[in-house]
Amino acid sequence: MLLIGTSVFAVAACVLLVGMMLLFASLRRNSERDTSSRLAEQRAADEIAASIYGQILASYEQLQAPSEANRRRFDALGQKTYDGLRRYLFQSMSLEARLQVETIKELHQALEVVAHGAFDLVQRGDPGDASARVSEMQGLAEKLLAEMNRFVRLREEDRARMHEEQVGKLQRLLFAILLVGGGLLGLSIYFAWLVQRRVALPLGELAAAAVRLGGGDLATRIPSQRHEELEMVARRFNEMADRIQHSHNEIENQNVALSDNLANLKQAQQELVQQEKLSAIGFMLAGLAHELNNPLAGILGTAECIAEELAKHPDPATRRIADELVSPLMLEARRAGDLVRNLLRFSAQSNTPLAAVNLKLAVEISTGLRGFAFAQAGKELSVVIPEELFVAVDAQRLEHSVMNIMNNALDALRTGGGTRLDVRAEGIDKKWVELTFEDDGPGFLEPDRIFDAFYTTKPVGSGTGLGLSLVQRFVSEAGGSIAAANAPAGGARLTICLRRATPSPAQELPAALELQGGPSSAKVPAKGVPSAIAGALQDSVKGYRVLVVDDEPALREIQRRFLASIGIVPLIAKNGAEALAILQRERCDALITDIRMPGEIDGIALYRWIEIHLPELEPRCLFVTGEMALDGDISGLGPHPDRVIGKPFTRADYLDRVLAVLAEVGSPA
Ligand code: ADP
Repeated sequence: MLLIGTSVFAVAACVLLVGMMLLFASLRRNSERDTSSRLAEQRAADEIAASIYGQILASYEQLQAPSEANRRRFDALGQKTYDGLRRYLFQSMSLEARLQVETIKELHQALEVVAHGAFDLVQRGDPGDASARVSEMQGLAEKLLAEMNRFVRLREEDRARMHEEQVGKLQRLLFAILLVGGGLLGLSIYFAWLVQRRVALPLGELAAAAVRLGGGDLATRIPSQRHEELEMVARRFNEMADRIQHSHNEIENQNVALSDNLANLKQAQQELVQQEKLSAIGFMLAGLAHELNNPLAGILGTAECIAEELAKHPDPATRRIADELVSPLMLEARRAGDLVRNLLRFSAQSNTPLAAVNLKLAVEISTGLRGFAFAQAGKELSVVIPEELFVAVDAQRLEHSVMNIMNNALDALRTGGGTRLDVRAEGIDKKWVELTFEDDGPGFLEPDRIFDAFYTTKPVGSGTGLGLSLVQRFVSEAGGSIAAANAPAGGARLTICLRRATPSPAQELPAALELQGGPSSAKVPAKGVPSAIAGALQDSVKGYRVLVVDDEPALREIQRRFLASIGIVPLIAKNGAEALAILQRERCDALITDIRMPGEIDGIALYRWIEIHLPELEPRCLFVTGEMALDGDISGLGPHPDRVIGKPFTRADYLDRVLAVLAEVGSPA
């Protein structure tokens, strides 16, 4: 709009100026024409005056010397005066001047009439009348000249007035031109200012904003404009800037997502590498465990047999050897067995499905087992867990984890000072349960490193650095999280978040938990028998015939001795084939077989044969193995993992299992 208005104004100003200039030029031309006509009129007046004087002179000459020539000269001059006067009347002049011309004409005519009368009288020779006419003629001539002078004066006044009018007109026009020109100049300045303010400045801002936007300042926007066209440009610019910013944000978000993905990929890759390593270690450990557990079982069992024999010796000094030398030997063998088992757990992938586990019962099984050790060390152990909290975990691994954390706390309280361990749990919300272990010992030396595999601050031989890594693995596989920190008041604090679970009515968790047993092979026997009943059982199993199958001579001998010590008749086979022959030949009340044996018939094959050919013996089969990854987790046994005795085993473990099987079966087959 502004541009259109400005253009229209400029055109109008140009037209006006050109019009005024044309008008001024025409006035000037008029004035010039007027001046030249004045000069011409002046000349005409002079000529008339000269003709009248010439006629008067010619009349005197005619009167003094009449001649045809003088008379014709008089008439010619008269004609000239007459023509001059008649031409005059065509001029534009005032009424007064026009009347004056008429008066002159009349006087001239009267002069001519009187002059001709006088000429005629002179020609006829009447000088008296002629002189009277001459005097009359003289009077008329003087009058004519006087009127002529008056006329010239009048015309001059006429022209002066007309000139003044002309000049006045010119002045007014000039003034008007100046006025209009000044107005136009003012308007031009105003328009220029308007254009500068409303067009040039906003355009400058637009250019600057475009430069800023191009330079990376994506927040650049143009404020709303009063002018319609500029407002449209500003709106388009802002829309464009919005789109650029939107695209920029999208690219940034994609970058963030990409780097997140990259980080996740890296982490996944690391985890994969770690898993690869662990599975390689696991594979190696499974073989190693068999190789280690067999000699360890031999060492442990033999040591027990030696201790038993020494205990019967009459010499007290010899009996002391059992306590001083054989007991530490057994302890070390058991610790080595625990280490192998921990290593196997560390490398194993658990695929036990998660169940709804009563947290209080699960924790109390572990605290019950370690309560005595705490009391013995003079440390307080407090457990505050609501009855109704259920969590989705593998119960056995939860117990292992609790046991691990408690052992660590007890170690820390013993070595670093401190008096108590608090175990508490609460439901944070509908989804999560928080289980906290807090002691007032020395606290973690390096809280960030305690979950690293093989990180330990314990003396060589006391710690493997695998306990808390296993706890962390268990928690993350259960979908939870674990955090370690030193409590503000000192001491170590471990906080475990586990998913809440809803127990199904059919679930008999407490019973299930009791049956699963503790983490150490020396603890509550699976399907074990209370020791009081075990004593009674020992008497009732005397004379039972139990077939022991093992390829290791030392283990065959140990088992033979353990069974014989409670009156059982051991039948011994060194491989599956021998065992089959005995089974087909003799009565057996129970079978205890090594799982992995050389030859075609290993422990599992033997069991399968019994299932088919001696089904009454099937419930009385026990298995010995050095390959236990998680307690009782041996493939190939179908629903009987609880019939497994892990190597190395103590005499008590072994006999507990044997008695439990025989007690369940009742009288010999
Ligand atoms: P280990 O017990 O074999 O050393 P863990 O993985 O169980 O391995 O523990 C790793 C380390 O964490 C321990 O060596 C110890 O330094 C530290 N730690 C664990 N529990 C506590 C605690 N309650 N107080 C102080 N330090 C602890």
